[in-house]
Amino acid sequence: MNAPLPQAPVNWVAVFALVFLPIVAIIAIPFYAYHHDFSLAAWISMFVLLGVSSLGITAGYHRLWAHRAYEATLPLKIILMIMGTFAVQNSILYWGSGHRTHHRHVDDTEKDPYSINNGFWYAHLGWMLRDYPAAAPNYKNAPDLLNDPVVMFQDKYYVPLVIAVHAAILLPIGWAVGDIGGVLLLGGLVRLILSHHVTFFINSLCHMWGSRPYTDENTARDNFWLAIATWGEGYHNYHHIFQYDYRNGVKWWQYDPTKWLIWTCSKLGLAKNLRRIPSFNIKKAELAMKFKYAEQDLAIIYGLNMSDDIAQVKGNIAKEYDAFTQTLNDWTKLKEKEIQAKKAAVAEKIHDMDEKLKVEFQQVEQRLSEHRETLNQLLRNLKKTAA
Ligand SMILES: [Zn+2]
Ligand SMILES: [Zn+2]
Repeated sequence: MNAPLPQAPVNWVAVFALVFLPIVAIIAIPFYAYHHDFSLAAWISMFVLLGVSSLGITAGYHRLWAHRAYEATLPLKIILMIMGTFAVQNSILYWGSGHRTHHRHVDDTEKDPYSINNGFWYAHLGWMLRDYPAAAPNYKNAPDLLNDPVVMFQDKYYVPLVIAVHAAILLPIGWAVGDIGGVLLLGGLVRLILSHHVTFFINSLCHMWGSRPYTDENTARDNFWLAIATWGEGYHNYHHIFQYDYRNGVKWWQYDPTKWLIWTCSKLGLAKNLRRIPSFNIKKAELAMKFKYAEQDLAIIYGLNMSDDIAQVKGNIAKEYDAFTQTLNDWTKLKEKEIQAKKAAVAEKIHDMDEKLKVEFQQVEQRLSEHRETLNQLLRNLKKTAA
């Protein structure tokens, strides 16, 4: 049961953008389609421009400005600012500062601006429709944004910029393909609504639906399907534990077009200092969760039966856990040494050791997954017998 929301005045600008515009779309789209038909070019403009505005949010607003996950050159900043303005999600300053608050106080009903504890609709959309205290602007957590001329320029001229960017993108395309009305409706209006909800899913569904491979200390989830919809932001469980990583889909095979875009920009000299969490730390978090889940399954199995087979798996898992903590201790000692010894040669040696310990982790992981397989098999058998 959600706690009652505090009384708050309606934000009419948000109601216009998020409620009124979709109503206009529902009426105007069938009407226009009936009288004119949409050109193929108008449909294509919708998909392409959805990418333009969404990536402006994911690569720009989110990973560059809210998290400082990499550094961008001025031309890239200007391009991302224009793309993000086209998404109409308020200014970078407001968005970035609010998002930092979300990370700092995630799931805290009173402080998280889009706390999922207030329910799906609040986290998705409702938090913007009224001026709730949790989402009130407070830029104390954003001194860097207050000092960024691109951010401050956009904040100062936000509304004229929104209008100018829409005119400068939509009108030439519409004119070039000979379907201004179609491009305005599909590439403009429908694209904007889709782009809004794509981002809003990150605050709503990405805190409800999916797995938690890295941490269960907050509600954020990893979800491949949402990654597809959100340009890679669906790996939200990883993102909440390692928010400064420029990747959300951290594994090379995970679908994250935003990380590919940032990486490509770095190769083109437009971005630099891409921040990556050391793979050892990532593996550590992942492995710790795997042990936790094994522990939980063992607890279930105790309730059902306690056979010799299960006792053996339990023993094996405990042994792997010892190996895990041992590796962790070795690594901590190594890091202490690294802090003491600054010389390059030593650092290099430590890097080799780092790699070696990572391999040890991988071996633990491999053995653990074999024990898990046995455990799952036993669990299945037991459940079958119980049923
Ligand atoms: Zn989140
Ligand atoms: Zn974030």
